[in-house]
Amino acid sequence: MRTEAIGDGEPGGDAVRVLVVEDDPGIARSLMRGLTRAGYAAAGVDTGSGALAAEPVPDVVLLDLGLPDTDGVEVCRALRRRSDVAIIVITARGEEGDRVSALDEGADDYLVKPFGLAELMARMRAVLRRTRPAAPEVLQHGPLAVDLRTRKVTVDGVDVTLTPKEFDILECLATDPGRVITRQQILERVWDAHWYGPTKVLDVHVAALRRKLGVPGLVETVYGRGFRLGEPAGGVDRA
Ligand code: CA
Repeated sequence: MRTEAIGDGEPGGDAVRVLVVEDDPGIARSLMRGLTRAGYAAAGVDTGSGALAAEPVPDVVLLDLGLPDTDGVEVCRALRRRSDVAIIVITARGEEGDRVSALDEGADDYLVKPFGLAELMARMRAVLRRTRPAAPEVLQHGPLAVDLRTRKVTVDGVDVTLTPKEFDILECLATDPGRVITRQQILERVWDAHWYGPTKVLDVHVAALRRKLGVPGLVETVYGRGFRLGEPAGGVDRA
């Protein structure tokens, strides 16, 4: 089983179009893979001129400022002059001046390398809330769909009712499928920034979440580390 992108089989559908402007092939590849898995329609270019020539016009541009042909700040200014596309600039450490210039030229937000996919997705959702208020925010992973705006969860199209805590745990995992989210990260995000209590409470909620989702192998325990969204082992057997 593979993770499907929303909009698969319906090119030009409702998927949010993201243009990755990045000349480091490794970073570009992993960004595109992560975005596609999360349901975005991702395309990539490795130059500033490529960014300005991109068709169709994307909804979001992830703009590396250190490009081989053009100053990224110039690209940002040119993009902003012609459209209100959401722009998130990506900079390396030590490029603070460029970052400030890019924000002055109309960038919506910025990320400093290295950054995690989960953080990028959160920034993108925040920016899209401003530029595309009606944008669907659905994370799709195999049979699972998690709507971040309405907090509705379905498995194979069937509604699953979760408690707020169960939903929050699932959101942590579904934002970056396959990546291990540590117990501490989940406790901090779902319960409190400084959780010092017993972590048994997390296991109780994860057990309930698994039972309600009814997909063996979907919520995987990674011993000694945490949890991740895995590839479901078999069919659906909802309790
Ligand atoms: Ca670069």
